[in-house]
Amino acid sequence: MLSRRSILLASAAAALSGSLRPAASQIVAEASLAGRSVAVLSDGAFEMPLSMAARDASLADIQGATGSGAPIQSVLNVTCIRQGDATVMIDCGSGANFLPGTGKLAASLDQAGIKPESVTHVLFTHLHPDHLWGALDDFDTPLFPNAKWIADRREVAFWTDPGVYQRLPEDRHAFAAGAQRILKELGDRLETAGAGTEWAPGIAAFDSAGHTPGHVSFEMKGGDGPLFVLGDALTHPVISFAKPQWRPASDHDADLAVAARQRVLARAAAEKAAIIGYHLPGALGRVERDGTAYRFVAAG
Ligand SMILES: [Zn+2]
Repeated sequence: MLSRRSILLASAAAALSGSLRPAASQIVAEASLAGRSVAVLSDGAFEMPLSMAARDASLADIQGATGSGAPIQSVLNVTCIRQGDATVMIDCGSGANFLPGTGKLAASLDQAGIKPESVTHVLFTHLHPDHLWGALDDFDTPLFPNAKWIADRREVAFWTDPGVYQRLPEDRHAFAAGAQRILKELGDRLETAGAGTEWAPGIAAFDSAGHTPGHVSFEMKGGDGPLFVLGDALTHPVISFAKPQWRPASDHDADLAVAARQRVLARAAAEKAAIIGYHLPGALGRVERDGTAYRFVAAG
């Protein structure tokens, strides 16, 4: 019998077969980290202007730092952690309604052999569209039917406040409308929690607010060193590391985001942590000091 999921996957496959694009679903990385089985799954990618990397730096300076004038190809990396009986997703992609080239998570899960029914927890770093809107499938049903969904209580309060529209530029109003619609559909399934506590067994949230008002990152401890899943605390493989003081246009509170970035970089370098960045190419790597700043050392 055809399930709704297999119908969706069949239609996605049919759509792909009509174009010359390679299959967009993919497993970005698989590793054993901090005593857990970790898979990073692609939700696709979108393009954004290079100028968005730093609103207070000149384009020439940005090009100088990145060595390229090309637009940013922002990849979307969803982390899946399997440990004991728990299968934990960190963020859940863009869904069908954000941007062309995104919304590939369901196909990537299928490729990785991870059944949506098996997911026990979905933890959100924050509630921007590329992290939240994939929570619902094309039928507006939660993608992970058996999961407990958890988001930071500051983040939920911000996006569900009727006054949120006054606090956002007009081009971000769709972010708020989307967040409100999806949180309403999740209803009682969604729980809120705070930084400094474990949201799933052995997976603790820590504060990295700035990119959004309630942005959190996650840390896990293990014999081979800690693992940090950083969401959008670090978004660009060069600029976030070499120029952490620059202010990307996507950060809500630029000063708070700079401070969070500096804290995360200092900790990750000092603790020799493995890091996973939602928008970092290849997702997985480490942070090394480089003079007064840092560099991203990709795994593998
Ligand atoms: Zn993002």
